[in-house]
Amino acid sequence: MNESRRRAVLEALGVDVYVRRSLPLRAASAPAAPVRDQRPASPARAAVPTIAAGSAPVQLPPAIEASLDWDALRSMVSACTRCPLSETRTQTVFGTGDVHARWMFIGEAPGADEDRQGEPFVGRAGQLLTSMIRALGLRRDDVYIANVLKCRPPGNRDPRPEEAASCRGYLERQIELVSPAIVVAVGRIAAQNLLATDTPLARLRGKVHPLGARRWPLVVTYHPAYLLRSPGEKRKAWQDLLFARRVLRLAEAGEQVLP
Ligand code: SF4
Repeated sequence: MNESRRRAVLEALGVDVYVRRSLPLRAASAPAAPVRDQRPASPARAAVPTIAAGSAPVQLPPAIEASLDWDALRSMVSACTRCPLSETRTQTVFGTGDVHARWMFIGEAPGADEDRQGEPFVGRAGQLLTSMIRALGLRRDDVYIANVLKCRPPGNRDPRPEEAASCRGYLERQIELVSPAIVVAVGRIAAQNLLATDTPLARLRGKVHPLGARRWPLVVTYHPAYLLRSPGEKRKAWQDLLFARRVLRLAEAGEQVLP
């Protein structure tokens, strides 16, 4: 993206274009710690990933989806009736983007637009997420986008724990197949589900979290739907993305990005 286009996107986001400073790898209140990419070198030998917070994730028994390729996984999701959301969905919303992306964005669940179109983040919030991705100098097709849930909760209510648990294996397999260099949890619900925590989003921002047994580097930011309601927070979201980009670059340079 050229500079003028980048400026236009940033202005659309409500972000002043002079924001360009080195971001700390940890929030000011967080203890300083060396960070390191501790993912195993060989994905083929890795254990089944789990989604848990902290440095000692809980191992789950292997699930059938843990061995599926993209086509088989997509077919399995489209026919899924593991939870009652299968009765109210228009269609499943699997995920979209580059299946070998360095960036993976994970949201909460499909909304009405996504349920209708079968693609995540396509409504107004999705358009804002796309603008944020473009502000990073990426195209939407350069990243992979998925949700914790593949089916829309009626009335856009929050996902129930049992629904997230039923759907978790699909997302874990998607993460394993993409093998991203950085995961961005989009919004409180996604972050808390992925990290198995009830810690408020504000305290999850500005840190690198290990995701699952493979310890994917994960950072947290606001959901674009929240940013549409609270445009004054867009600057913080942009800082989160800059932070994520710095983490990614450090990880790819072989630096520690996880405690
Ligand atoms: S939300 Fe997930 S577990 Fe529930 S029916 Fe849809 S695909 Fe299956």
